[in-house]
Amino acid sequence: MKIAVLPGDGIGPEIVAEAVKVLKTLGRKFDLEMAPVGGAAFDIAGHPLPAATLTLAKDADAILFGAVGDWKYDSLPRELRPEQAILGLRKNLELFANFRPAICYPELTSASSLKAEIVGGLDILIVRELNGDIYFGQPRGIRSSELPLFKGAREGFDTMHYSEPEVERIGKVAFEAARKRSKKVCSVDKANVLETSQLWREVMIRISKNYPDVHLSHMYVDNAAMQLVKAPKEFDVVVTGNLFGDILSDEAAMLTGSIGMLPSASLDINNKGLYEPSHGSAPDIAGKGIANPLATILSTAMMLRYSFGMGIEADRVESAVQKVLAQGLRTLDIYTDGTQKVSTREMGDAVVKALS
Ligand code: NAD
Repeated sequence: MKIAVLPGDGIGPEIVAEAVKVLKTLGRKFDLEMAPVGGAAFDIAGHPLPAATLTLAKDADAILFGAVGDWKYDSLPRELRPEQAILGLRKNLELFANFRPAICYPELTSASSLKAEIVGGLDILIVRELNGDIYFGQPRGIRSSELPLFKGAREGFDTMHYSEPEVERIGKVAFEAARKRSKKVCSVDKANVLETSQLWREVMIRISKNYPDVHLSHMYVDNAAMQLVKAPKEFDVVVTGNLFGDILSDEAAMLTGSIGMLPSASLDINNKGLYEPSHGSAPDIAGKGIANPLATILSTAMMLRYSFGMGIEADRVESAVQKVLAQGLRTLDIYTDGTQKVSTREMGDAVVKALS
């Protein structure tokens, strides 16, 4: 099992190091090969996704990704900015299905900014389409406005589109996932305003006929944003497009106490996947040894389950995380009175100890 390890920027190398320790503790042989990505790759090779890194990612059975981005690259042209690396990997490897579970561990209920009765026991799954939508749509750019009122002024524009097969394949992934959970899918769109969403909804209704055991509901994205903080436990599987999913999954992250707890998987049609924490490179805390490595460690559990079919090992990693939380160990982002503050490395070591 070959794993491409791409730590990236900011806290990426710190949190990936802890996840690698966990993988090495499992007693299974993983062939881990490391390569630079994002700003770190730009500094070495002049590109955020060098050809060698892309080849390694293509050849590997799975990819463990840290995070990319740093303010110091803000003045680079868009195509050279670190964030292009993750977009490029998703596109080149056809990783179209993003799984973002949002689970509120009982031990962390008090770390959430919402009331315990609203988030306690939360376990929802956001399935976000990753390869389409306004992030990749053409044409896009900055041009001179033709609007009578603003004629000649600079105007930014992007294009939102989804083809029927794109909606179908993400819809199927969501329905299949719901079959293994509580058989509810909520499709989130903006069908009252956008043609793209009207087609999205039409396709979801059509494919739902193949899943009579799964209940399909629809919600406009603005309402979904409200309901996620009002009654998040009403949801089970949420399926949505790239743009809406980006925003809603970060919102869902905060329900769980910290974005530092949320893993994610981005899968292709054959379940080859890129596994990364849901958060970014957190340049504000990079190098301080305080980042929470648990989202990355939990991402390796998703890797074991989805790409390698190693459910028992995945359960072991998740139980080890739960054990260290039950022991009261907390990185700064999830620290509350009465718990024990630990560093990134100490948290990783504790998971390794719980595993072994
Ligand atoms: P961010 O997720 O990096 O940070 C948001 C906040 O959460 C910060 O206060 C940060 O300190 C905190 N945080 C994030 N991860 C944490 C962890 N593991 N432990 C403790 N605290 C944590 O988002 P941002 O600040 O908007 O973006 C920073 C950079 O990351 C930008 O360059 C952005 O483009 C990039 N980014 C990359 C990815 C990716 O690599 N997939 C995703 C999102 C953002």
